[in-house]
Amino acid sequence: AVPAGPRTRTTETHCPYCALQCGMAVTAGDRPATLVPLDFPTNRGGLCSKGWSSTELLDHPERLLRPLVRSTPGDRTSPLVEATWDDALGRLVDAIERTQARYGRDAVGCFGGGSLTNEQAYQFGKFARVALRTSAIDYNGRFCMSSAAGAANRAFGLDRGMPFPLADVAEADVVVLVGSNPADTMPPAMQYFDAGRERGAQHVVVDPRRTATARNAALHLQPLPGTDLALANGLLHIALAEDLVDEGYVAARTTGFDDVRSGVAAYWPDRVERITGVPVADQRRTVFALARAERAIVLTARGAEQHRSGTDTAQAWINLALALGLPGRPGSGWGTVTGQGNGQGGREHGQKADQLPGYRSLADPAARAHVAAVWGIDPDDLPSPGRSAFELLDALGTDGGVRTLLVLASNVAVSAPDARRVVSRLGDLDFLAVSDFFLSETAELADVVLPSAMWAEEDGTMTNLEGRVIRRRKSLDPPSGVPDDLRLLAVLAERLGAGEHFSGDAETVFDELRRASAGGAADYSGITYRRIDAGEGVFWPCPQEDHPGTPRLFTERFNTPDGRARFLRVEHVDVHERPDADHPYVLTTGRVLAQYQSGTQTRRTRSLQMVAPTPRAELHPDLARRLGIGPDDVVELSTRRGRARFHAWITDAVRPDVVFAPFHWGGGSSANALTDADALDPTSKMPAFKVCAVAVARAGGP
Ligand code: SF4
Repeated sequence: AVPAGPRTRTTETHCPYCALQCGMAVTAGDRPATLVPLDFPTNRGGLCSKGWSSTELLDHPERLLRPLVRSTPGDRTSPLVEATWDDALGRLVDAIERTQARYGRDAVGCFGGGSLTNEQAYQFGKFARVALRTSAIDYNGRFCMSSAAGAANRAFGLDRGMPFPLADVAEADVVVLVGSNPADTMPPAMQYFDAGRERGAQHVVVDPRRTATARNAALHLQPLPGTDLALANGLLHIALAEDLVDEGYVAARTTGFDDVRSGVAAYWPDRVERITGVPVADQRRTVFALARAERAIVLTARGAEQHRSGTDTAQAWINLALALGLPGRPGSGWGTVTGQGNGQGGREHGQKADQLPGYRSLADPAARAHVAAVWGIDPDDLPSPGRSAFELLDALGTDGGVRTLLVLASNVAVSAPDARRVVSRLGDLDFLAVSDFFLSETAELADVVLPSAMWAEEDGTMTNLEGRVIRRRKSLDPPSGVPDDLRLLAVLAERLGAGEHFSGDAETVFDELRRASAGGAADYSGITYRRIDAGEGVFWPCPQEDHPGTPRLFTERFNTPDGRARFLRVEHVDVHERPDADHPYVLTTGRVLAQYQSGTQTRRTRSLQMVAPTPRAELHPDLARRLGIGPDDVVELSTRRGRARFHAWITDAVRPDVVFAPFHWGGGSSANALTDADALDPTSKMPAFKVCAVAVARAGGP
């Protein structure tokens, strides 16, 4: 451990990055902050390279310390120059008032993120509905967890990423991971998988790439991207044919199986092999392993979910888990592996277009009345549900669309699908304001950039991938004059005449969030800062202060009116964009170990840049040979939307018909300049990040 000096203090907190929310102790004071990992349940003393390097950014020379505004107001070609807070906030408030006077309340919009604390996400949703009275708010989690959330809500009546503690993974005899690569995205979690394997557990990985996770698995199924639903239906077909279904569980705890039973009849193993590329023998091995295990877990993640049929794909895997009697049993079940740090809490407390705190629906009169009473407003003053994230972005600057946009903690110019289209839409805005701690690619386009405090400089709570509510504790003061987003929203609300409704104090906001969530599906009313401090976090739902919290859901009943889980018949649909003569291959996108999301932070972290300095596209050796591409070449990937260049990484870890590109970079290496946003999932409004047609060409060599 790092010894604390006379003017230093050590604070227990959590990593700023992914949803594992590894515990760490930050020592800060009279020298650059340092950290050590803690023995917290999700990381047990482990951290990945991103966590280890997270304090590097606190003193980074590129940090924004003062607001920036355009030297010529209204002219985004003029340079961004430093300004006073009064000037910057004045310009934003003027733009809000001018826009709403001319175009109506919904012409001002808000776009949030899954890295905001629960308090900030809650406050942002409330700011939109109370201070701006706009329906136009959504957040980047729509591009992350929304399909899994939609499926869980349909099937179980409740969306909590993992309905069981992460430690259950170590107890499972079989774990099937679908489109999930925790060995790269959250390495400390692997200790639970490793512990299971040491006990003799079998792991099956379903992924078009032979990832670090797949290499350690007993079985790797390598389907064509976009065919996971067909695979899940095919596995259920085999389970039925082989009499492996837990009919007692199905009869006692579920409804709707007969329709699914007849639906999967068409998914013959050889047909599924033709659709997915997964051999019949591997399909059978997977089903028999799952069905014969005493404890078995199915986990899906973005690889399965970021599709235009993402919700149905997650549902297909839930159907399989239900048919085998897994959800609600110890060491068993279905879950989704949340990505962003507060991807879970960020979707519970009202920054979604259709939602009020506690997972309440904005369309439900009783929910509106409850939340309006907590907020001290008339329920009739609450706006209606608004547009989902991509729909909101795609309508920027149009008639009926948003004209002035405030973005918190999101870099949509890199992370949104069809990113160049989104950048063009941002250019159509009358006014763009971005709060961030670095000049991200989105902030570079803004009229006003507002610096914000970083993770170690603010208080709040996060909800990790297990549904465990934890404290993100302030370890040091932010640079002078830099507020956190909670304070920023309170000050903005004040200028908009709604200041009495908003506090800048995290615990005060959390106590209000507790009241707003009381009685909702994500009930935080029994969780207090004191209770979190006294233990290792508290799992929601937790409806009273003497309630222990709920680490494991669905043990007795599901969250549906009759307590039963819902099967739902789902069908494989072809991907929106099939390869053709011009774009003959399949592009899929994802993450690499040493980068995180849009790279705003990790691309500025020296130690991480040394590991992953340039974006590399993975190509199979057969494909590279056919196209005359060598290992040191640069390749150009082109789709119907744009082009981007990457260093070639020739590896047989990808299928010969698939190219993989990481999405952490912008500019000329923007993978999301290539991705397809024309077909959204009808339930979750998820774009098809994980599959589109691509052409590959050598663009240069050594
Ligand atoms: Fe941070 Fe996630 Fe790495 Fe843990 S696994 S150190 S939470 S990025």
